[in-house]
Amino acid sequence: MALTETVPAAGPSAHEGILRRQSLRESAARTYARSLPIVPVRARGLTIEGADGRRYLDCLSGAGTLALGHNHPVVLEAIHKVLDSGAPLHILDLATPVKDDFVTELFATLPPKLAETARIQFCGPAGTDAVEAAFKLVRTATGRDGLMAFSGAYHGMTAQALAASGGARHTGVTRLPYPYDYRCPFGTGGERGAELSARWTENLLDDDKSGVVRPAGMILEPVQGEGGVIPAPDDWLRRMRQITAERDIPLIVDEVQTGVGRTGAFWAVEHSGIVPDVLVLSKAIGGSLPLAVIVYRGDLDAWQPGAHAGTFRGNQLAMAAGRATLAYVREHQLARRAQELGARMLARLGSLAVHHDCIGDVRGRGLMLGVELVDRDADAGPGGVRPAAPQLAAAVQRACLDRGLIVELGGRHSAVVRLLPPLTITDEQADAILDRLADAIAAADRTTPGPTGSSPTTLRGTTP
Ligand code: PMP
Repeated sequence: MALTETVPAAGPSAHEGILRRQSLRESAARTYARSLPIVPVRARGLTIEGADGRRYLDCLSGAGTLALGHNHPVVLEAIHKVLDSGAPLHILDLATPVKDDFVTELFATLPPKLAETARIQFCGPAGTDAVEAAFKLVRTATGRDGLMAFSGAYHGMTAQALAASGGARHTGVTRLPYPYDYRCPFGTGGERGAELSARWTENLLDDDKSGVVRPAGMILEPVQGEGGVIPAPDDWLRRMRQITAERDIPLIVDEVQTGVGRTGAFWAVEHSGIVPDVLVLSKAIGGSLPLAVIVYRGDLDAWQPGAHAGTFRGNQLAMAAGRATLAYVREHQLARRAQELGARMLARLGSLAVHHDCIGDVRGRGLMLGVELVDRDADAGPGGVRPAAPQLAAAVQRACLDRGLIVELGGRHSAVVRLLPPLTITDEQADAILDRLADAIAAADRTTPGPTGSSPTTLRGTTP
């Protein structure tokens, strides 16, 4: 079939043709499209319908964007309202009632200590734009240049955000060990591993001969998402807050993925009670449309007019959809729901692990859950931990798709199956997700040959 040939909008032939044309026309860098060969044509809540007529439970949720699932009625209503009102859709960074409402709703959700003096900067469409803005802000405010970031981090794909991510090499960013309990960099795990990470950080900052000068800022994720769903212990976060505060280093918390109820608190920083100097926000705050902001302590606002500009920073539809999402999550206490349901799902994943040696670890916070797959036939290394099993993880992902379940992989070796369902799912939907996942793991475990742990050891750099 010629590439320009008209095809039916849906149906098996449309499905095949669209996928084929995509593989011929789109960049070799395409990501999800490779592991999820589906053609979504309709979606509602947790469910996506493909052009082939198949239905899928979507636990990828736009890489954690869809707090309310696909096409939630309050989001659609908010968008329709703006469209029907005749309001301008493009207004650069001018003030509008839609923007005013969005900022009011967002500020109402912030930790009160941050809200007291908070300033907001609209940064552009993507999370990575907000990360860049955060770095620029702290550099301007402190007059310093360097940054501290953590192993396994993911902050985006623009130059500086990438440099602060775990996959980067040879950058000016000082890399610190993140408290990854299961594969503890110090070989101890638990509280001790987190304590050693904190001490290492202190030592680098206080030792004149460490080779590290005081940085402009430190950036961290309260739960590493793309790095493999790794929740930081609350005590460790408090230590990082203390270490940075005592040395006048702005702490940038990247809540692009953890925000808006996902981890069981409206913002993940609430679990530890820390107050960041800069919050980086995107994904769910735009209610499924592109929106990215930083919110920061007023006294850091040392920018000159125009210091961080950009044409597309006033997306009215995203602000309306985002305001509706924030309000819905707040009013319906979806953070608490995420905490309760997430704990139940994690417990069930824990029981699954008992029956499958290929499950090395299950972990998560709220509705941000991960299952780390390991090579059950390989010898265990230090701490009894086996090598990661990326091929098995890929097989589980395929087996999930065969069973109508969309999951994403993450982690250092792409061996962590990640679940990021909407916060609105019912108990029955949660059971259906876990039934399909359990079945997929059992099937993949039976059919995937070992040894499986020999794939590259880089952090997946392709996952937004
Ligand atoms: N920070 C975190 C924690 C993320 O998870 C992501 C995206 N997965 C980003 C930043 C980058 O966001 P975007 O893909 O919108 O640039």
